[in-house]
Amino acid sequence: MKSIGSALSEMLEAFHPLSHTTAPLREARDRVTCVDVLAQHDLPGFDNSAMDGYAVRSSDVATAGVTLPVVGESRAGGELPAELSPGSAMRIFTGAPMPAGADSVIIQENSERNGAAVQFLVSAAPGSNVRLRGSDLRRGEVCIPAGTVIDAGAIGMLASQGLLEVPVHRRPKVAIVATGDELREPGETLPPGAIYNSNAHALAAAVESVGAEAWILPIARDNAEDLGKAFNNAFTADVVVCCGGVSVGEYDLVDTTLQQLGVELRFHKVAMKPGKPLLFAMRGTTPFVGLPGNPVSSWVAFELFMRPCLRRMLGHSLVHPRTFRVKLGHSHTRSMGRVELARARLTIDGDTTTAHLIAQQGSGSLPSLVAVDALVVFPADQAAFPAGSELTAVALHEARGHATPALG
Ligand code: AMP
Ligand code: MG
Repeated sequence: MKSIGSALSEMLEAFHPLSHTTAPLREARDRVTCVDVLAQHDLPGFDNSAMDGYAVRSSDVATAGVTLPVVGESRAGGELPAELSPGSAMRIFTGAPMPAGADSVIIQENSERNGAAVQFLVSAAPGSNVRLRGSDLRRGEVCIPAGTVIDAGAIGMLASQGLLEVPVHRRPKVAIVATGDELREPGETLPPGAIYNSNAHALAAAVESVGAEAWILPIARDNAEDLGKAFNNAFTADVVVCCGGVSVGEYDLVDTTLQQLGVELRFHKVAMKPGKPLLFAMRGTTPFVGLPGNPVSSWVAFELFMRPCLRRMLGHSLVHPRTFRVKLGHSHTRSMGRVELARARLTIDGDTTTAHLIAQQGSGSLPSLVAVDALVVFPADQAAFPAGSELTAVALHEARGHATPALG
């Protein structure tokens, strides 16, 4: 049986960043740039004032107390100002173009206006309160390096360059095949012994939360013909994810069907709990991941394996789940042999994060997936963990608020 680490490395080797495309600016958030984006314009595009005040020639205001006549004004979006004549000041506002000749702005708070003249309470330093053309960025310089995850700041940067399209990696289309004779879709009536297909919908949401495109196929029934048809169709996508049918029962036909289709099986079991029957295969360059049917197992396996792999396809360089240290809120005992990933809710008190294991840890227990914060990792070689044990946990959310932090 493979360890989690070696299974993940083997899978990651088979997933590559997808080809280049462009995304509209407002849809580019969370996508990853595939090439360096170059500045189209100097930033700022013209010398301008950083403050409301008066533009002067610094040599005219070498000492505090100088009074100058105020000639004209420059405001953001107004007419371009005339040249500043020596021995005068120009009223200027934040973001307004500097008049030619001026090299300094004295802020309003350091001046006293008397009708057509202004007295300065300070001397003027060359360059002060002036934002020079190109001082942030020059045309042709890299404004967003390849491999950057586009966030609000990057969107602002791109918009400031007048760009409407962002070069990004293509999003993978992920085919999702749920298998099982017992499955019905939500909305259908449920005959005795049937259950709703919850996995396909949970997986689709998870796929979309990574930023990939989810494609739910019709439920495949537990026979080779139906599975074969479903898989052939699914292999038109970038990645195929199937759930159920990968265990050892007589109706678990996924691996034999794959073999009939000439798909190359790579591994079939990972030493973890839940999620042991994880199947990984390749058809040409298209990966196939067979997740266990139990809802918790498929979800945990998705978080540990699929999320990093899809992140790689999207061009992320940091693909592994974020981990952090937690203190166990109470004792926990279990059988050794496999790494256990237990669902937990977290409380944060100052620098201490405490993990409270959710009571139901069964691999079919869907309520335990609601509002879970993290997976606590219990190493394979230890059976008893006293309260207060320090353990690693896998983050399931970037940020989930707890106590009000004291930020000042
Ligand atoms: P299997 O791996 O096919 O033996 O399924 C293991 C368990 O997961 C069984 O109880 C199945 O009914 C259940 N299961 C399989 N597929 C799904 C699904 N798509 N949604 C919800 N439960 C499922
Ligand atoms: Mg099944």
